[in-house]
This record gives sequence, structure tokens and C-alpha cells, in this order.
Amino acid sequence: MRSVPNHPTITTNGVLRPTVLEIDLARLGENYAAIQAHVGTAAVMPVLKANAYGHGLIEVARYMQALGAPYLGVAFLEEGILLREQGITLPILVMGGILGDQVPLFLQHNLTLTASSEDKLRQVDEAAEAMGVRARVHLKIDTGMERIGVHYYSAESLLTASLKCQHTDVEGIFSHFANADAADLSSARLQLERFEEVLRFYERRSLPTPVRHMANSGAVLQLPESHFDLVRPGILLYGVYPSAEVSLNVAVYPALRWLSKVVYFKVVRPGHPVSYGSTWESDHMVRVVTVPVGYGDGYFRALSNRAEVLIGGKRYPVVGRICMDQFMVNIEWDSAYNGDEVILIGGEGAAAITVEQVAEWAGTIPYEILTNINTRVPRIYLQPK
Ligand SMILES: *Cc1c(COP(=O)(O)O)cnc(C)c1O
Repeated sequence: MRSVPNHPTITTNGVLRPTVLEIDLARLGENYAAIQAHVGTAAVMPVLKANAYGHGLIEVARYMQALGAPYLGVAFLEEGILLREQGITLPILVMGGILGDQVPLFLQHNLTLTASSEDKLRQVDEAAEAMGVRARVHLKIDTGMERIGVHYYSAESLLTASLKCQHTDVEGIFSHFANADAADLSSARLQLERFEEVLRFYERRSLPTPVRHMANSGAVLQLPESHFDLVRPGILLYGVYPSAEVSLNVAVYPALRWLSKVVYFKVVRPGHPVSYGSTWESDHMVRVVTVPVGYGDGYFRALSNRAEVLIGGKRYPVVGRICMDQFMVNIEWDSAYNGDEVILIGGEGAAAITVEQVAEWAGTIPYEILTNINTRVPRIYLQPK
């Protein structure tokens, strides 16, 4: 394995911060293959929004393109443009809502638009005509998320309108689950039925059906009936399960480790509380080390006095409030030296600190932990051999 930092990142004379995210690209490839094997003939669209769930938009996109992924999914126009500027040539579906004045930029960068109303579709078709290009769209049907998309009960007019577009290829039609990661799948099944009913529009007219897709990670795992022509896994690709309830019938493994180094060592006496607000103190002499990571890097302040880290393969508690750029760890009377590795996320076997665990300590979900790891933290990529 060769490790290469992402670009651009903050370095001093080419030397990285002692705090890094290490991303194992081969692991991402294994997760992708495991998902593909599970969904059989359905295509797999890696979802790369929010800096590829913290793993680095450009590097993950390049690797997915090299692996032969047929399509990439992002949330925003800006993410799509960045991918095009970095030379990604795969089709890219921008799944979020669009504003009228953004349409020319979508077309200029050959990005696939989400048409979530007749109005938006008309804007797209008109802009394509004006620019003398063909637009590529996927229709968005709201079957129960109430986020974007035309409601399933009034979708017919959008589908009818889509047949009349002169400058637009309606390549896909999709919906999104609100509860596919739950133990109780009744609401997800209801959404699925609604989507299937909308799709009968094509059958009834003997028209070819556009590419149908609905499954996020939860549905990839739990609702094989929803795999259709294409699935859209995000978090599962990164080796993290979407909730604690889902069935674990696809084996994936985390691709990321968050590492830092001890930057300071001291003995703290009783009666001498640690960090802002003096929220923690020991009743005996302890050794405390300082780690140069803080909430300004996305190591949530909510982890204060709750999280644990690994030093020398052993777990130790974070003590006192997490600061913007630093936090403290109580190592009792064990040894640690400046420069020793500190693992915030990662590690082997029973001692491993998982994203799920960090999320629980912080009172949130793994998605939020991953997507908040700031760009101030350099990403290092372990390149597959
Ligand atoms: C984020 C997102 C996904 C991926 O969700 P995961 O739960 O991470 O698999 C799929 N589809 C849409 C529309 C999304 O917004």
C-alpha cells in the first residue's frame, strides 16, 4: 500500500498535521463489491455527498470511477461541478432540489438533474432548448418522505409532461425511503407500494420504463423488492450500518481511521480540574496527556467526559471539556510519550473504537460524526496495490 494525502490540504513544508484521517481505498472497493454481490443485477450508484461522508469527494469518486461504478450520486450542484472540474466523466445524478437559475450550470457540466415538479421539468427543457443541448433528468416521486418530489398521488401529470419534453431525456425515476433502516418495515413497504403504483403508468401505456431506483443503505439490506434497476447506498459503502436495528446481511467494514498523536504529557494533582468549566478533576494524582484535536476538527464537544481513545492498544477516557483544537486524556499511571499514536476512531478487535460508538457517546448518528470531520483534518489514502 502506498499512502498519499488528499489535495488541497494543510501542510507545512509538505509535512502533514499529526492528526489525519486514514482512508483505505481497497476497503471501499471490497464494500462496493459486497453490495454489488448482494443486489445481483441492480446497478450500484455510490452516494458521495458531504465530502463522500467525510472520506474525501474527489479521491473516492476517482476510485469509484476506476472500479467501474456506472453512476455517482451527490446532493448538490456544487459537488457535481467539483467532480467535473477534477476530471470525473461518469454520469452524476444531483439528487437535491434545484433552483431555476442553476439549470444552465447543470447542463453546462453535463450533470443529471432531479425533476421534482412539472415546473422544474419545464425550466430544464426550456434551458436545454436555449443552450442547444440535451438535458438528462430523473423524476423524483415523494412516496412518504415529504422532502422533495411530486406526491405519488399526483405524479401522473409530471409523468405525462415528461413524455412531451423535446430537449430532455427522462432517464430515471426515483423515490426515497424515510424508514428503511427501521426494525418495523411497514411504513417502508407502504412507500414501496406507492412507488410501484406510480410506475404502472408506463406499463399501462406500454411505454419503456425509465431506470427505477429507491433503495438507500437500509433498503439495500432489508428490502430486496426495492432494489429495482439501481441502488443508492451511502453509509454502507463506507462500512457503517445505517442503524443498530438493520439486518446485517451484507458484510462491510469501516474504511476510515482517525489518528492523532500525544502532544503533551503532565501529572495532574487532585484539586486541579482539567479544561474549560473545570468539569472534571481527579481525587488522586494522575497522568494526563493532551491530544491536538478539537471540536474545530469535528470531534464533537458533546464527547467531553464521555468518549474514549486508544493509546498503545488500550482505552482511556477523555477528561474535561473538549476545546476547539485540543482535548485531554486520563491515562492514570500508565506511560505515554509525546508522539505516541492516539486513535480516535479505529483499532483492532474488542478495543476498536467504532463510529457507531462515538455517535452514541455524542448523542447522534454515525452519519453526523462522519460528515462533520472537518477539512482541517488531512486525509491520507492507502492506495490499493
Ligand atoms: C443520502 C441519500 C442516499 C444514501 O443514503 P444512505 O442511508 O447513506 O445509504 C440515497 N438516496 C438519497 C436521495 C439520499 O439523499
